[in-house]
Amino acid sequence: MTAPPDGSICIGCGLCCDGTLLGHLAVSDQSDLGAPLQLLGVSIIAAADPPVFELPCPAVEDGRCTIHHLHRPQACAQFECALSAAVQRGDIPAAAARDIIATTLRVRAAVTVGEAPAEALERQLDEHFRGRIGP
Ligand code: SF4
Ligand code: SF4
Repeated sequence: MTAPPDGSICIGCGLCCDGTLLGHLAVSDQSDLGAPLQLLGVSIIAAADPPVFELPCPAVEDGRCTIHHLHRPQACAQFECALSAAVQRGDIPAAAARDIIATTLRVRAAVTVGEAPAEALERQLDEHFRGRIGP
């Protein structure tokens, strides 16, 4: 979700922005949320502690953040999934990570049309993106 450099595995993924991996992101206040997201109709759920905004985020299109060159919440710049962290550490090649993302998007599509159980997607997310399943 960080502002991805060219070649980043995040480009074309967007699983942490589109509601697949996370249901919401924390923000500190309206200024942290920022004008670009407010203009897209995003509002803060102030009753939450900390305050949050709901995902999917309207700024993500085709796995890309359309406002990454503008103001984004701090959480957007700080979040890194387990897969991205593994690539950064050199534990997994970027090409292999892209294959995992592509597989995950296929599993999600299969779940959406009822050709795979929801558990298949959750296992994929747990194993590769949340780091909850060991090798
Ligand atoms: S690779 Fe991870 S951090 Fe990057 S967009 Fe996908 S889920 Fe988000
Ligand atoms: S503002 Fe961009 S990085 Fe943040 S959740 Fe929305 S699409 Fe993702």
